[in-house]
Amino acid sequence: MIQLDAITSFAICGAGAATAAALMRPAHADDVQLVRALHHGRDAFVVIAAGLTASLLVDVMPTPWAQAAMAVGTIGGVARMGWALALLSGEPAPRWSPWLMVLAALALVLGLLPLGLRGVTLAIVLGLAGAASLVLWLGRRLVLRPRDLHERLIGGTIVIMLLSSLLRAGYLATWDGPYLPNLMHMPSPLVTAFALLYGVLPMVFALLFMNVVNARLRARLQRRVMTDHLTGAMSREALTESAGALVAELRQAQRELAVVMIDLDHFKSINDRHGHAAGDAVLRRATTILRQQLRTDALLARYGGEEFLALLPVHDLPAARRVAERMRVALAEAPWPTLADAGLRVTASFGVALLGPDETLQQAVVRADEAMYRAKAGGRNQVQAALMVA
Ligand code: GH3
Ligand code: MG
Ligand code: MG
Repeated sequence: MIQLDAITSFAICGAGAATAAALMRPAHADDVQLVRALHHGRDAFVVIAAGLTASLLVDVMPTPWAQAAMAVGTIGGVARMGWALALLSGEPAPRWSPWLMVLAALALVLGLLPLGLRGVTLAIVLGLAGAASLVLWLGRRLVLRPRDLHERLIGGTIVIMLLSSLLRAGYLATWDGPYLPNLMHMPSPLVTAFALLYGVLPMVFALLFMNVVNARLRARLQRRVMTDHLTGAMSREALTESAGALVAELRQAQRELAVVMIDLDHFKSINDRHGHAAGDAVLRRATTILRQQLRTDALLARYGGEEFLALLPVHDLPAARRVAERMRVALAEAPWPTLADAGLRVTASFGVALLGPDETLQQAVVRADEAMYRAKAGGRNQVQAALMVA
């Protein structure tokens, strides 16, 4: 078994913490809580790495001072990790400044200096166990109710950290040899294992932390791309993405898919006469009215400014026409009591196309669009169907 000396142990742990700090790169994202969690996590590892690096100076400065630097860094840094975990758990970070913890650790160590190496060693190990308990408490949601594997593994690293601190405190309490500057008061094979554990654990922790943060930021972005801001309808991107699966499913079940292109009539004049905000309100309410006429297996997306695209599983073209007609009537007869001009009428022109057996969805959309333009040309507020493809 390789036996590491104190300097090598600290160098390994310090390098682990420094790497972890480099891994936790605060993202430029608008989720303030997650960005703050990353800042706290990175700062925690910077402080830990600084403390461990200072302890490398054990040969050039008095041992208690090197140990004090290490204590302040590791205890303060580990405690600060609790703030990061609280934020990652979705809870507010405690109000007391993390620096209070550093000051407390400093006071503790300085106060114990007269007790010599034994007192300082005891203080540091107990301080670390206390800080690990604090981290466990602040990150308890991740430990007790993890939402995915990575959160569970983060909880695991917290528990390992706490157990290892308690184990070290236990060994220290029963230690009857000389007090060691590397604080590893335990059977020698364990010293190497612990040094490696403390070198690897921060990096694993940082990677898991980043994975959780990145997954949440990606999910947030995905939600934003998939829904239209103004109306809450599906976005065009979301429709395009879902359409492939829907088409495959319907072809398998030998059912038809109807494409309905919907364009509000003279929408520009609604904006011009009632203002843009009123236009927005019409778009929102029109979305609700259209959606209410559709079964849950239909998809409705805002395709452009005042254009909507619906994909309907149907039996045949007449059935699709009937659904479009129902949407047309619902829109044309809807009262608009919230607008200043209560007598306002909002209508739309509809183009319906049935997806041909060898046709791409995009080709069917083009045919539905052409039918919709025929509805416009025919006087608006009407449904036109595209001819079946040959
Ligand atoms: P047509 O009956 O021929 O379709 O006439 P139209 O006025 O509806 O057609 P056009 O495409 O010329 O105008 C669409 C208008 O929709 C132009 C634009 O100002 C408006 N619009 C597009 N997006 C929005 C939006 O998000 N909010 C509001 N209020 N208006 C929008
Ligand atoms: Mg229009
Ligand atoms: Mg338009």
